[in-house]
Amino acid sequence: MVSPAYAAERVLDELGVSDPSDLLLLPQIARARGARVKEQVLQGAEARLTVLGKKGIITVSSKTVSPERKRFSIAHELGHFEIHRDISVVQSCEAKNIDWEFQNSSPDLEKQANEFASMLLLPGRFFAPLCKETDPSLDLIADLAERFQVSLTATAIRYLCFCDEPVVLIFSENGRMKWFQGSRSFTELKEDLGLYIDLRARLGDSTYAARLSRGNIAPKTSGRVRASAWFSSGEYSQEAAIQEQSWSIPAFNSVLTFLWIDEDLDEDDFDW
Ligand SMILES: [Zn+2]
Repeated sequence: MVSPAYAAERVLDELGVSDPSDLLLLPQIARARGARVKEQVLQGAEARLTVLGKKGIITVSSKTVSPERKRFSIAHELGHFEIHRDISVVQSCEAKNIDWEFQNSSPDLEKQANEFASMLLLPGRFFAPLCKETDPSLDLIADLAERFQVSLTATAIRYLCFCDEPVVLIFSENGRMKWFQGSRSFTELKEDLGLYIDLRARLGDSTYAARLSRGNIAPKTSGRVRASAWFSSGEYSQEAAIQEQSWSIPAFNSVLTFLWIDEDLDEDDFDW
């Protein structure tokens, strides 16, 4: 069995995809690989792959409204077709498993299909250079999400793979943190300074995310906050400040937060 990364690269190479705009023609890409895409009502599944010899049929639920979500489902099923067609002739995939945000809790085949989808829709060869064009921010990620027609959260998670700065993405729901994920540089800093984000805790009162989840500021907000507002412990100066950008995601009563540690945390002098 080939790896998801290899399988995604192979699709791009063999079809000669040379520009990000080619990726917007996803049903045509699937068809060129031998899988036809259709929509219909599905019971208990968001998408399905049926393998018929060398061909496949990708069915996506007609109830799925978001075009970005539909694209991700097609790419996920194409992943099963490219990687797993010798293992299983029918893959019926539930919504909770077609989701790179929570891929760690998915079964292995689902994780691999999610990884393939991520690498096909946001390929490093096109996406990585764009991640380095400007300072880290949710605005940059939103621009990239629109350009590649992928959800904001999914784009943000992929962005972390290519961002050289210490940044961390935090998703919270109803005032509580659900998960966080950092760039490689953040992970190193976290280990060096023993930074700790307490996922059991409610959002700190002084964070923009907490104010957003209480609904009393504009849905897109940013500013400097003390590092201690986010990191419950660590070897950082009590005066240390970081950049916070928080946007509300109203459909899920959630907030997506992007933290950028743009100064040394263990120095005593800080510019506010
Ligand atoms: Zn699946």
